[in-house]
Amino acid sequence: MTGTIKATAVIAAAGSGERLGAGGPKAFVPLAGRPMIEWSIEAMRAAASITEIVVASPPGHTHDLGGDDLAVVAGGDTRSESVARAMEEVDSELVVVHDAARPLVTSALVDAVLEDLAGEPDCGAVVAATPVSDTIKQIARGREVDSTLDRSALWAAQTPQAFRSSVLREALGSTGLLRQATDEAMLIERLGGMVLLHEAPADNIKVTTPLDLRLAEMLLAER
Ligand code: C5P
Repeated sequence: MTGTIKATAVIAAAGSGERLGAGGPKAFVPLAGRPMIEWSIEAMRAAASITEIVVASPPGHTHDLGGDDLAVVAGGDTRSESVARAMEEVDSELVVVHDAARPLVTSALVDAVLEDLAGEPDCGAVVAATPVSDTIKQIARGREVDSTLDRSALWAAQTPQAFRSSVLREALGSTGLLRQATDEAMLIERLGGMVLLHEAPADNIKVTTPLDLRLAEMLLAER
């Protein structure tokens, strides 16, 4: 089925990367010999279903990332505002949103979430995710625990996230939650849309801290 699916990849890369403390935007921090974002671009280009890429870059980093298949837009103040800006450049029916902060994404995972979405007509989004392995405590005040959540029902949402473009546009335009959203699937959930999870490989990690960067270097070196 992958051969018939055609989609645009939106890469959210406009974050400041403060928690990484690299002194510049995280997406452009060197990782295994190239700027972090290039690993995601390479995976998108290798995916059979991706025909174009739109990158939301930090203001001042909107330089050419190379290729006729790639457009760069200036990102917004928050992640979902960056995605909304990138969506202005998208005219395909399906889109995959991906964080530049997940450089270990594979073309197989990108194709898989899109294929999953294409096979579920009632579904608005398919989200890469992994089951939570820690026990999760909900806190009430400060560090005082209020309750322990049922781990068997908890998954950590990641990217790539595949959407029907019309559904994503509606969600970005109508929920008024763009500043609070930590992913775009959340906006669709708020509108009552169906979101499905797709189990991702354990190495699809997010680079947030210097420790994550070291781990990503090791994992990429092994590939
Ligand atoms: O901050 P966090 O690591 O959750 O960001 C997730 C992704 O969203 C990163 O790839 C980051 O570059 C992107 N982002 C963005 N625009 C913002 C903030 C974050 O594209 N204003």
